[in-house]
Amino acid sequence: MNGNSIRPLSFPPRGCDPAVALEEVDRYLASDYCYNGGRIFNSICSQPLATGVTAFVRAIASNLADPRIFPGSAALEQVVILWIGSLLGAPMVSGNLVSGGTEANLLAMLAACARHKTRYGVQKQRLQIVAPVSVHYSFDKVAAVLGVEMVRSGLDEHYRADVADLASKINKRTIAVVATAGTSELGAIDDIESISQLAAQHGIHCHVDAATGGFIIPFARHLGHFLSAFDFTLPHVDSMTVDPHKYGLAPIPAGCILFRSHEERGSLNFPSHYVGAPAHTTFSGTRTGAAAAAVAAVIRQLGRDGFAALTRELFHKRDYLVSRLEQRGWPLLIAPQLSIVAIPCANPEKTLADLQDLGWIVSLSKRNRAIRLVIHHHIDKASINAFVEAFSTTAQPVGESSNARAPHLGQ
Ligand SMILES: *Cc1c(COP(=O)(O)O)cnc(C)c1O
Repeated sequence: MNGNSIRPLSFPPRGCDPAVALEEVDRYLASDYCYNGGRIFNSICSQPLATGVTAFVRAIASNLADPRIFPGSAALEQVVILWIGSLLGAPMVSGNLVSGGTEANLLAMLAACARHKTRYGVQKQRLQIVAPVSVHYSFDKVAAVLGVEMVRSGLDEHYRADVADLASKINKRTIAVVATAGTSELGAIDDIESISQLAAQHGIHCHVDAATGGFIIPFARHLGHFLSAFDFTLPHVDSMTVDPHKYGLAPIPAGCILFRSHEERGSLNFPSHYVGAPAHTTFSGTRTGAAAAAVAAVIRQLGRDGFAALTRELFHKRDYLVSRLEQRGWPLLIAPQLSIVAIPCANPEKTLADLQDLGWIVSLSKRNRAIRLVIHHHIDKASINAFVEAFSTTAQPVGESSNARAPHLGQ
């Protein structure tokens, strides 16, 4: 909302009936879209699994900043961290449930900064994080908070990191390299094996941002899809971000920061000023134990089998969308690796607005002049059919407008 559109509202002077309060809230919520309507093609989050919502509500008062009051919730957080760590090849994992991928990325870079200082001492020059241009924009926030510079490298023809270009940007000031397992823009998976080896050669921290891919790739691999190693099974991956509130089907807020072990987390530890309160390893202080209860319940209910079945369905839907688009003559920007499908078209901004007028929510990749679609569990074949019809009557192929431009690979 921009400043000009703010109309002052005064704090309610008198209370009211709970039913009235809820009615007023409902009046606002009525204009929210509902995932289950199948018209949301831009969201990396979806309707959480019902069991997760039940568990969340049961733990609604729980605060993980005070494990003396909530030891059960704290134990559940630990269980969840160990489960996800084992899924990603780190039996000695050290981590936390946090507000989301942004905070997880911040914590990883905070640890990398501290490790860099321990190794090389305090430096006068500005430190830097090196990552491909496809890195999530949360790193701009992270770099701003830490006062470090974001240095970006280019991509290869598959929209993955150009590893040689990444290597050329690393120097003494580099605290970390970041690779992405499932870029937000296109779902591309960087060559994490090569990038982690590169980081090890330079003695710097290697972080893998698997916020989106973390709850897809392990199960897709289990199903036999050929996707390269991306996790702690690679010996030089130091930390990972995974978001249970995306493809983990848990309610928001549930992000997850994982370090291979205590050693990679380093000195990331903030003692409190109160006697008896434990030190914090997260950025947020008060944080909900409901997330731990919810993530635990969802993972326990689904298990690896359940997530694999959901991933199989997800890929079926994606392939169905791709084939329907191809039938209608729409070439894709790249063959999708995960759940994101990008369709180059003339004037994607106008297409996005026209589709929204028709009740379809999509996003666009500005860099690549393409409409960007995210397949998630709330989408089904009927909604795909209806969407492809709407899209085909709304969008125009590249070349039918002077706005069309070649795909953008570099910086
Ligand atoms: C979603 C996402 C983030 C940010 O996570 P939030 O939960 O929105 O804070 C970071 N990186 C990637 C790759 C993501 O997909």
